[in-house]
Amino acid sequence: MQNQQAQPERKKKVLSLIQPTAVPTVGNYLGALKNWKQMSEDYDCVYGVADLHALTVRPDPALLRRQSLETFALLLAIGLDPDQSVICVQSRIHTHAEMAWVLNCYAQFGEAARMTQFKDKSKTNADNINVGLFTYPVLMAADILLYQADYVPIGDDQKQHLELCRDIAERFNSLYGKTFTLPEAFIGKVGARVMSLQDPTKKMSKSDPNPRASVSILDEPDAIVRKFKSAVTDSEARVKFAPGKDGINNLMSIYAGCTGLSYEAIEAEFEGKGYGDFKAAVAEAVVEELRPVREKFNELLEDKAYLADCIDKGTETALRISKRTMDKVKRKIGLIRL
Ligand code: ATP
Ligand code: MG
Repeated sequence: MQNQQAQPERKKKVLSLIQPTAVPTVGNYLGALKNWKQMSEDYDCVYGVADLHALTVRPDPALLRRQSLETFALLLAIGLDPDQSVICVQSRIHTHAEMAWVLNCYAQFGEAARMTQFKDKSKTNADNINVGLFTYPVLMAADILLYQADYVPIGDDQKQHLELCRDIAERFNSLYGKTFTLPEAFIGKVGARVMSLQDPTKKMSKSDPNPRASVSILDEPDAIVRKFKSAVTDSEARVKFAPGKDGINNLMSIYAGCTGLSYEAIEAEFEGKGYGDFKAAVAEAVVEELRPVREKFNELLEDKAYLADCIDKGTETALRISKRTMDKVKRKIGLIRL
C-alpha cells in the first residue's frame, strides 16, 4: 500500500486470459479481444492463453498443444505487442496452479455451486462433470489476484465469476490484512454478449459443436457470408432493435461492434430493406473487421521460433510479477519459507 502511495503515476493493471479450446469467435473478438489492444495502450496489461482452464473438458493433447500455440499467435495477430504487455501461457507459470489451491481453501462450496456457468456446463458435459469444472472460477480468481489486477475486461458471461473473485479476495484481505487488489469488471458497451447465430437466446461460444452457430475469427469470407445467411431471425422482416427480436438484435449488435454505428443509425440505414440485405451487410462488415487479423495470424504461424521466443519472454515476466504475490500469501498463511 505504501508503495502505491509513493507511485501516484502507476498505471492501472489489467488481466485477461482466453481459453485455447477452439479458434475464438467474433463474439470473443467483439466482447473481449478488440478491447485488449486499446487497453494495452492505456494500462499495464497481462494477457494470456488459459490452457489450464481448458483441461476441464479433457481436450485431445495434440489438439490442445496446437490450439494453445494458435491462440498465442492470435494475441499477437490482434496487435498486442510483447514489448508493451505481458503475453503468456498460463501453464508455464506455476504460481497459477499454486495460488488456485490456496484460494480453494478460501472459497465456499456453496458459492462455487451457485455459478451458472458450472450449472450450464454440467448439463452440456453430463458425462464429465469433473471437480476442475467446479473450481474453474477459483483458478480464474488466482489468475487475476496474482497480478493485483485493477480491471478485468470480460464479456457479460464472466461477471458472476468476477464477483466470486472479489468475494474471495475480500475474505482473504479481512483475515490477513490487505493482500489483494479488488478487481473491477471492464465490460464493453456493444458486443458484450454476442449470441449464437442458430439460437440467439444462447451466447455464442467457441466450443459450440454446431459450426453454423458461430463465426470463427479465422473463417474465410465465403464461410462468413454463408453463416450469416443462415442466421436465425424472425418473420417480421424489419431491422429494428426490439424485445423478442433476439436474432435481429444480435445481428445489430455485431454490426454495431464492427462499424461503430448506433442502433438508430443502423435502423435508418436498413429502413425499407429486407433481412437478406441486412445479413449481407453484417457479413461484409465482419469480413472486413477480421481480415487483417487473419492475415497477420497466418504470417505468424510460419515463424514458430519467434512465437517460442515471445512465450519465453512472457513466462519470465509473468513469473517475476506473480511470485511477489505468491510469496506474500505464503508468508501470511503460514507456509514455511526457506
Ligand atoms: P468456451 O465455450 O470454451 O468457454 P467462450 O467463447 O466462452 O468459449 P472464453 O475463452 O470462455 O470463450 O472467453 C474468452 C473471452 O471472451 C472472455 O472475456 C469472455 O467474457 C468473452 N466472451 C465469451 N463469449 C462471448 C460472447 N458470446 N460475447 C462476448 N464476449 C464473449
Ligand atoms: Mg466461456
